[in-house]
Amino acid sequence: MIKVNKNYNKLPGNYLFSEISKKISEYQKQNPDKKIIRLGIGDVTKPLTPKVIEALQSAIQEMSAKETFKGYGPEQGYSFLREMIAENDFTSRNINISADEIFVSTGAKEDTANFQELFDNDIKIAIPDPVYPVYVDSNVMAGRSGEYVNGRYTNFVYLECNKENDFRPDLPKEPVDLIYLCFPNNPTGQTATKEELEKWVLYAKKNKALILFDAAYEAFIKDSSIPKSIYEIEGAKEVAVEFRSLSKTAGFTGTRLSYTIIPKELMIWDDAGNQYELNKLWNRRQTTKFNGTAYLIQKGAGAIFTKEGKKEITSIIDYYLENAKIIKDGLSTLGIESTGGINSPYIWLKTPGNLTSWEFFHKLLNEIQVVGTPGSGFGKCGEGYFRLSAFGERENVIEAVKRISNLK
Ligand SMILES: *Cc1c(COP(=O)(O)O)cnc(C)c1O
Repeated sequence: MIKVNKNYNKLPGNYLFSEISKKISEYQKQNPDKKIIRLGIGDVTKPLTPKVIEALQSAIQEMSAKETFKGYGPEQGYSFLREMIAENDFTSRNINISADEIFVSTGAKEDTANFQELFDNDIKIAIPDPVYPVYVDSNVMAGRSGEYVNGRYTNFVYLECNKENDFRPDLPKEPVDLIYLCFPNNPTGQTATKEELEKWVLYAKKNKALILFDAAYEAFIKDSSIPKSIYEIEGAKEVAVEFRSLSKTAGFTGTRLSYTIIPKELMIWDDAGNQYELNKLWNRRQTTKFNGTAYLIQKGAGAIFTKEGKKEITSIIDYYLENAKIIKDGLSTLGIESTGGINSPYIWLKTPGNLTSWEFFHKLLNEIQVVGTPGSGFGKCGEGYFRLSAFGERENVIEAVKRISNLK
């Protein structure tokens, strides 16, 4: 008899965003004449830039001729792209990362979800709350969670992010082996200071722990005092893996390209104290389970590291950041508390009148036809909060803020 992976039964029922879409389509069916403004899902709206399109087109030409056609490529990514990433994201910023420490992939969702495979099942995991659900669910599927009791898994250590700690988690009170961090954060929009990251690097060193650092939103950091990479912290190369993605940086959410940085000095251990190079383990995993990112897409990605390409994506990021500022300023005028919205495309607001996250969701949808994301969908600590995203069109953002100011 073919048996199910029982861990799947421990996953909470509905994925947050399918629940939200269902509620929106029900509302729209009942109210076909109302215009809904969506500031909910974390997807971009601006198309790929001209330089990327040009590169994609020329790559298609290459694929059409016998002499330049490409079949299977290196599982780790083509070296032209890995070199460009090393130079532009790291070396030019005085961070010593080489091309063979970079693994090109199809998404940071895939890589952050898959990475836990390299670790023993009995490691202790620290996960922020609220959080991008992928870190939690991938470890549940793998059987590390224990039971689901009152909205939490018994084996995970939750790093609570709330107003008291300014949405930057405190160090865990018990020893942990694996720590997920994401800055600028989804959903809170909070960024980490240098001191904040130093605290985690020091902790990881002391405890022989590993940090999985999700930097999917690094492109939104404009303030030069805020680290874009965890490797700006001394010693981080010994304790941290970093995930980057072109999804939010360059509109690649549907095109798919990301990269994961695994410095060669990163070690993990077995019970007998033997050391293993994490870079080699991931390489072993990828060469077995992954046949590389499409050549076309890697060529398209290369365009964003050129001078013109950089200019193009910077102007789009600036557009989204201006949206974020409009939302944040609008909320602040109305006396609604929020975090994020600066160096980040997300605004995390405290629901007015002590409404629950879902009550506020329904109020916005029913009364002013604005859609956001209920904070409780990201974890227990998200209850009473609400996420707005800055990825919309300017006129919609302005209209949404106007509608919110008319809210009773
Ligand atoms: C959007 C997002 C990503 C990017 O995922 P891709 O699979 O690269 O599209 C990664 N982490 C977080 C927290 C995100 O919000």
